[in-house]
Amino acid sequence: MLIIDGKATALAIRREIAEASRELESQHGRSPGLAVILVGDDPASHVYVRNKERACQEANIRSFSHRLPASVTQQELLDLIDSLADSDDIDGILLQLPLPKGLDEDVCLDRIPPTKDVDGFHPMNVGRMALGLPGLRSCTPAGIMTLLQRHDIDPSGMHAVVLGRSNIVGKPMSLLLLEANATVTICHSRTKNIQDICRQADLLVAAVGRPHFVTGDMVKPGAVVVDVGIHRTDNGLIGDCDFEAMKDKVAAITPVPGGVGPMTIAQLLANTLQACRQRLNG
Ligand code: NAP
Repeated sequence: MLIIDGKATALAIRREIAEASRELESQHGRSPGLAVILVGDDPASHVYVRNKERACQEANIRSFSHRLPASVTQQELLDLIDSLADSDDIDGILLQLPLPKGLDEDVCLDRIPPTKDVDGFHPMNVGRMALGLPGLRSCTPAGIMTLLQRHDIDPSGMHAVVLGRSNIVGKPMSLLLLEANATVTICHSRTKNIQDICRQADLLVAAVGRPHFVTGDMVKPGAVVVDVGIHRTDNGLIGDCDFEAMKDKVAAITPVPGGVGPMTIAQLLANTLQACRQRLNG
């Protein structure tokens, strides 16, 4: 059984990005620039933003933080996004979600120009992904595709079952797996016989947001399991899959922590580098 090491893979990718970024800097006189907007005082969001800033620093990406109070108006937030959109120094704009009540996430995300949308959430980038056209891809699903690729796991011809249909994980994951020639089944809260469907999966991606939703008897022997879930418990972080109950049965599995999570940040850096290259090289 293979434990898919997202931490080591992400570290390797971050080193590659740092090198590419230094090369870009020597050619163009500046390294990629990422603006991070954090509104309000959600503790988890502050931790995520700090981690992203640290990762940027290590990857030779300049990060510019904009911390705004929860009382900021929609117009003030849109004005900030507009000024970052106009700035030549900024290649990527990341708006940390969730936004406090009263601010419309869809309106704010749509305001980020698709060329600077390093989270890959803009309808233009999502549409391009659906059409198989180049663009900035959603970080978590794109990070998972890289993780599979770097472990020589080719989804082509596999029956891939994706649990969850959210706009940030389940839906884009399904599209990328389809693009990689998997046969994709998407399950959600109204799906009937979900256990039976999971047992048919050669590749199971769990993004339900429910701790240990996938039990040992829900996976086929020899399956590949990707666990996207993150849940804080008194005993540390756990995922959507019961790792201990299936680790001796599956061919490969991502652990929590140390699986998908680090890849999401690595993909954010990769997207920022890609956005910078496109702006500088046209
Ligand atoms: P979400 O927006 O809450 O979506 C959850 C999805 O699971 C929905 O499509 C929902 O179905 C489905 N679902 C919920 N309960 C179900 C049930 N009992 N049976 C079948 N389907 C069910 O969550 P998300 O943002 O996609 O995130 C999912 C998990 O991944 C969370 O634990 C989150 O913390 C984690 N996450 C991790 C990373 C990372 O970098 N590792 C990144 C993003 C998210 P309906 O659509 O029918 O409601």
